[in-house]
Formats: sequence, C-alpha cells, structure tokens
Amino acid sequence: MAPVEDFRQGGGASTRGRTSTSDNQQRLNGMLHVIIPHPEKKLKDCIVCSKRNVPGGRKETTYICETCDRKPGPHMGTCFKQYHTLKNFKL
Ligand SMILES: [Zn+2]
Ligand SMILES: [Zn+2]
Repeated sequence: MAPVEDFRQGGGASTRGRTSTSDNQQRLNGMLHVIIPHPEKKLKDCIVCSKRNVPGGRKETTYICETCDRKPGPHMGTCFKQYHTLKNFKL
C-alpha cells in the first residue's frame, strides 16, 4: 500500500518552467548521488533499461553512479532517477 515513489518533498518555491538544471537539483535533493562519465570510458549495460536476455535489448551507457557501492551504470536522466527512486527500477 505504501507508495513506491516517495521522492518529492513539497515546498518547492519555483514550479515555473522546467529547466534541466532545476530538475537535476530536485532529483538530487533527497539523495546525493553523483553520476560521472566512466573514468575509463568503458561501456556498461544500463542497470535499468538494458535487457541482456532479450535479443537486441542491451543498452549501454558511459555513465556510472559514483556514489553507489555497486557503481552501477544507469543512463543519465530517467534511468538514473528511476534507479534511485523506485524500488523496482528495472523496466
Ligand atoms: Zn537506461
Ligand atoms: Zn547512486
């Protein structure tokens, strides 16, 4: 019964427009996770949307979350958010 998505905290002063900057700030508001380009520029399977067991379902990203111990590689944006806000982040 508990809502899975419990990320947003009310009280944002500015709700006008949606620049990617404020979007980022909001996303990182609750948890300070830092996404960085892979230091060795390696490709990782996106931990969220890559489906290895599906033919052609493999999606790669060059970014990793530096904060997570696993150093997962979600795509920047939706996948990153999903990974850090949803219990079942897998698509
Ligand atoms: Zn992805
Ligand atoms: Zn993380």
